[in-house]
Amino acid sequence: MIKCERCGYDKLETISEGKSSGVKCPKCGWDIVTTCAHPLQFDRQKYSVLVNGDRDLNVDKVKAIAKTCRCSVVEARKKLLEGFEMRDLTADETMAVLQMLKQVDALFKVTPRFPHKY
Ligand SMILES: [Zn+2]
Repeated sequence: MIKCERCGYDKLETISEGKSSGVKCPKCGWDIVTTCAHPLQFDRQKYSVLVNGDRDLNVDKVKAIAKTCRCSVVEARKKLLEGFEMRDLTADETMAVLQMLKQVDALFKVTPRFPHKY
């Protein structure tokens, strides 16, 4: 957990505006904003990604899921048909999973809401 350098408050807000990103203390207004750092590195939230059951399977989708879940193609196909959830993902992992799901056109839901662009 990142703490405020001025007052020690530990619930810093993530700032993401255009190309600027960083963290801000809601208590005293202290902030670190950079124009190149990725806000993902400040995100300590764990996310769950729920992938909807899907009957419209294609090879690319099944292969992408198999790779992401590190399981066999057969298992991936079964997961996709029934729907499944990936829990306790870090922001980085969530980003990778969401980019993959978007690419293969899968239906999914992230909890809590994922604030980064993917
Ligand atoms: Zn502060």
